[in-house]
Amino acid sequence: MALWEGARRLHLTANRSLYQATSICINRQLSENASSKVKVASSPETTDHILYTSEHFALKESLKKIVDQEINPHVDQWEEEGLFPAHKIFKILGSAGFLGVTKPVEYGGMGLDFSYSVAVAEELGSINCGGIPMAIGVQTDMATPALARFGSAALKTEFLLPSIMGDKVACLGVSEVGAGSDVASIKTKAVRKGDELVINGGKMWTTNGTQADWMCLLANTSDAAPHKNKSLICLPMNTPGVHIARKIGKMGMWASDTAEVFFDDVRVPCQNIIGQEGMGFTYQMLQFQEERLWAVASVMSMMDKVIQETIKYTRQRKIFNQPVLYHQAVHFRLAELETELELLRSLLYRATGMYIKGQDVTKLASMAKLKGGRLCRELGDSCLQYWGGMGFTSDVLVSRFYRDSRLLSIGGGADEVMLAIICKYMDTLPRK
Ligand SMILES: Cc1cc2nc3c(=O)[nH]c(=O)nc-3n(C[C@H](O)[C@H](O)[C@H](O)COP(=O)(O)OP(=O)(O)OC[C@H]3O[C@@H](n4cnc5c(N)ncnc54)[C@H](O)[C@@H]3O)c2cc1C
Repeated sequence: MALWEGARRLHLTANRSLYQATSICINRQLSENASSKVKVASSPETTDHILYTSEHFALKESLKKIVDQEINPHVDQWEEEGLFPAHKIFKILGSAGFLGVTKPVEYGGMGLDFSYSVAVAEELGSINCGGIPMAIGVQTDMATPALARFGSAALKTEFLLPSIMGDKVACLGVSEVGAGSDVASIKTKAVRKGDELVINGGKMWTTNGTQADWMCLLANTSDAAPHKNKSLICLPMNTPGVHIARKIGKMGMWASDTAEVFFDDVRVPCQNIIGQEGMGFTYQMLQFQEERLWAVASVMSMMDKVIQETIKYTRQRKIFNQPVLYHQAVHFRLAELETELELLRSLLYRATGMYIKGQDVTKLASMAKLKGGRLCRELGDSCLQYWGGMGFTSDVLVSRFYRDSRLLSIGGGADEVMLAIICKYMDTLPRK
């Protein structure tokens, strides 16, 4: 039985103990499903993979069914409307276990290691746009990891469990109008008044922001040094004083909503601080390795697909009495891009493999993010070129990829931020 179908039948009651049972069953089904799949999938790619086991492939296959049946048929419409129905899609994904692959079993997660998250991110890349995988990644790998690691049981019950089950949509409030790359300089304040925190300020570029039920908010909670004065706070988005100022228009990622949010004397209990007060910056930095590897994994399948679609198109499109593909400049360039993609894939799997063994892969994850962003730009540009005027239309995947993937060099740490981290590890930064 497919993991997804099984999970769909099992779930669907907002009952915490059932959530646990569901997750355990999902885990069990995953293993059963995997062992039956090994016999079928016997290509070298699946039997002798450097990182993935038959369980990883079973997980991917189940997710592919959801993508093919529930998501891809609607992507064009959601892109046009500038919004996908996050609650509906997250409920489907959450019911099947895909929003909590690495999260604790007692809160509805699967309790698997980070390589499974990478496998899921790769499969999400088969969604025909960048905005929806990004929105899912914010929920699973950006807004919830600190809560899962450091949050109190009460906070995990209130915010983590329903986010894993797909009952609540999460967003991450770190960036501000005046602070993106320089996270330490955020201005949003949360000041203690009795048992409450009073929050004032605003957040910019909040993915899922217009639809979210809660925000993992980074705010200054004291006047200490910038790396020690910040806390992560669970903030319900329906709290009085939270204002969605606008939905930001963007060049790409159309199906994903991006909000500017203001806080005007917003009050939440002090217990909503995740983990230790003053540790928010550190917690945020701790999850960067995973965030960056996840981001790279999420674009791999689409890069593959864009190359394959370009081969298909240029093989049938004739110019000067032969297919576009037969011009050496074209097939050689595609071979170069495929080579670069395989190199990136190797780096991603190597870094992930080392990470799940407990090693610090900050340098490799930063390299992968840097290379991923740049390769997306090169690959999108080269492939789009070979589609001629068709590439310039909004009807083809290559133009959507060209627009969407541009973000990878900017969001979650710009290329230059990655270079600075790599230089730090190489000890080549100018000494002060
Ligand atoms: C569609 C979208 C979705 C997003 N989603 C979220 C979200 O959900 N939550 C959230 O908190 N944030 C989100 N962001 C914000 C994103 O992480 C920031 O845009 C990013 O960190 C860059 O910050 P900035 O835009 O303020 O650029 P700036 O910090 O102003 O940087 C501008 C440019 O300066 C250059 N630069 C930066 N550092 C250096 C350096 N050390 N040396 C040399 N040059 C440098 C880079 O080229 C960079 O692009 C999102 C952004 C976008 C566009």
